[in-house]
Amino acid sequence: MSFSALQLHPTLLATLDSLDYKTPTPIQKQAIPLILEGQDVVAAAQTGTGKTAAFCLPLLQNLTKGRRGPANSVRCLILAPTRELAAQIGDSVRTYSNDLNLRSQTVYGGVQLYPQVNGLKRGADILVATPGRLMDLVQQEAVHFTHLESLVLDEADRMLDLGFEKSLNELLTLIPKNRQTLMFSATYSNHIRKLAKLWLSNPSEVAVNKNNQVANTVRHQLYPVDKARKGELLAELLDRQHWEQALIFAKTKRGADEVTEILQSQGFSAAAIHGDKSQPIRLSTLEKFKSGKLAYLVATDIAARGLDIQNLPVVINLDLPHVAEDYIHRIGRTGRAGQEGRAVSLVCADEVESLQAIEALLKTRISRKEIPGFEPDHRVPDSHPRSQKKSPKSTKPTNQTKSNKHKVVLEKPDVTEGPGLRSSPFTKLTTKK
Ligand code: AMP
Repeated sequence: MSFSALQLHPTLLATLDSLDYKTPTPIQKQAIPLILEGQDVVAAAQTGTGKTAAFCLPLLQNLTKGRRGPANSVRCLILAPTRELAAQIGDSVRTYSNDLNLRSQTVYGGVQLYPQVNGLKRGADILVATPGRLMDLVQQEAVHFTHLESLVLDEADRMLDLGFEKSLNELLTLIPKNRQTLMFSATYSNHIRKLAKLWLSNPSEVAVNKNNQVANTVRHQLYPVDKARKGELLAELLDRQHWEQALIFAKTKRGADEVTEILQSQGFSAAAIHGDKSQPIRLSTLEKFKSGKLAYLVATDIAARGLDIQNLPVVINLDLPHVAEDYIHRIGRTGRAGQEGRAVSLVCADEVESLQAIEALLKTRISRKEIPGFEPDHRVPDSHPRSQKKSPKSTKPTNQTKSNKHKVVLEKPDVTEGPGLRSSPFTKLTTKK
């Protein structure tokens, strides 16, 4: 099937041709006709499936049929959970609408508000926004929705994880009811389904992947190691494996900074992004990584979702994520579009509960390999995938870990845009020797 069979506008077809998009992806084939018809759509699709074009192309085409509204008005609103994802969608909108007479603007926190307020004075056909900054702009009366025709909730599950449900509910009271609404989510919990019923009107359902599915082109590998030696082992692996690039996930901002310093001190091209870095630095570092100028990007989970990085050979979990599903989102950055990818995890004894939850989700035991010289003093207890239905909390520590005095500490995850979590940032108990 070609894009022309989807009844797209000749200008959009020419743009797609210039981008070398030859055939629509499955989500594009399914969603574009429905969106062109003006239907509400709820879609299960992750980044990497071509979902941005799946909603942008038909929405842009529909927008060409009307006219821009007055000052501060918006015709199409696209909401995304993180600043990085909003910036990326904003870039895609600009690319796809290049030859259409449509004005788009992107707004997110961490940068000055007033240039955004000024930009909105002209009104926008498309506004891409993170919910927090959008609510700030609403309060400043810099934007109104009386002319709104369509609303996209992208990565809806992540927006809820970050505590944006209240903002979204508030926002939906300000938006005309006779709009077109599209909801994209990587996972569909009962809660998300309930909200979809509330926010969308008789939506068509589109699914291109099963929940929590991992690309089968990704090879998983686990290296047991003591917590204190993770940075050293990482440098050793990077030295041995000669991966051209790697995205490295750390649990905390401090952990990300510490390991970046270790890598830099050993001459690796490495930089960190997390919530304490200014937004311009976050974006420019990400840009360097995407363009291949930076070899190793160390990030907290702000980079786990939505980012489109071409040909990434490996994702490394310096620490396992708190939430098992985030393992799937993290490694979704590699092995994309049928390419080979690797997911490498450096795991210490403290992380056995997270490991069990991840292996239960993947329904497989990740193969382990000890690196000579890095064998852990504190053995990572064996996980038992078959008995993983029970709560991971029931995992019995080995004699060795039992004998260590465990001090309970609260670890603070990196949350940069989540009002819900801001009030309760300590989400996970971990044990530390
Ligand atoms: P997304 O899932 O929207 O983040 O898109 C993932 C990547 O696929 C982006 O780099 C897009 O530019 C690219 N892409 C989207 N649709 C197509 C297509 N039909 N053909 C080729 N590349 C595409």
